[in-house]
Amino acid sequence: FRLPGGDNRHFAALDQLNFSLGRGRTLAVVGESGSGKSTMAKLVMKLQRPTAGRVSLRLDTAVRNIHGLPARDLYRKIQMVFQDPYASLNPRKRIWRILSAPLCNYGRLDRGERQARALRHLRKVGLGEAQLYAFPHMLSGGQRQRVNIARALVTEPEILILDEPLSALDVSVQAQIVNLLLDLQRDLGLTYLFISHDLAVVRHFADQVLVMKSGEMVEWGGVEQVLEYPAQEYTRQLLHSAP
Ligand code: ATP
Ligand code: MG
Repeated sequence: FRLPGGDNRHFAALDQLNFSLGRGRTLAVVGESGSGKSTMAKLVMKLQRPTAGRVSLRLDTAVRNIHGLPARDLYRKIQMVFQDPYASLNPRKRIWRILSAPLCNYGRLDRGERQARALRHLRKVGLGEAQLYAFPHMLSGGQRQRVNIARALVTEPEILILDEPLSALDVSVQAQIVNLLLDLQRDLGLTYLFISHDLAVVRHFADQVLVMKSGEMVEWGGVEQVLEYPAQEYTRQLLHSAP
């Protein structure tokens, strides 16, 4: 990225970041604000282009530069849930339309079929007919985050990138969403890349933890190993500074 301030200097938001995800497992990504967690997620989702360097993925077969990977192939495999459950839903669209938008890349479906699919995915996240024709502002924060999760599921992906999906919710709703995500993982075999600041949730939710600092990997290992017996001083400080 270009440094703010108008001159032409750049800094590396990400550098040499390499990791893999176990199928059906959860890898948590932690690191202080500005360490590059969301940038990594947005690059993988092709929401942002690297100004230099490249992003490669191995999905089943060979390692591929995602630049050449069509979005429709990518979004079949990976979807993302964002931090702010309201900002990421179009306020002018009814929920069934929001939920059928990701399908438009995968052939034409009539209105009835789109509504039926939207309803099927709403049910997966504990919502139903009552929400199908609602607008986002009619839902609670927790319900909106459920809609975001449903939207991420409509292309039936294998991997979800969850970028701080709980931080805009209050604590009791956080627990409900964590339980929903765990149920979905068990039922659908989903793989999660879980970006979080909350080490208590990470401990409960993740199998492995990757610690980032200034765009680089500091440490990566099993959740217990990293959180109980961190090998790096930076990780110790991060654990120490957590509430
Ligand atoms: P947080 O925990 O606060 O969400 P993060 O780890 O997700 O932080 P990023 O949003 O990935 O951090 O940002 C990494 C760095 O890149 C930060 O220094 C940020 O200011 C910078 N950055 C992000 N997007 C851009 C952009 N479009 N242009 C320039 N700099 C950017
Ligand atoms: Mg972020």
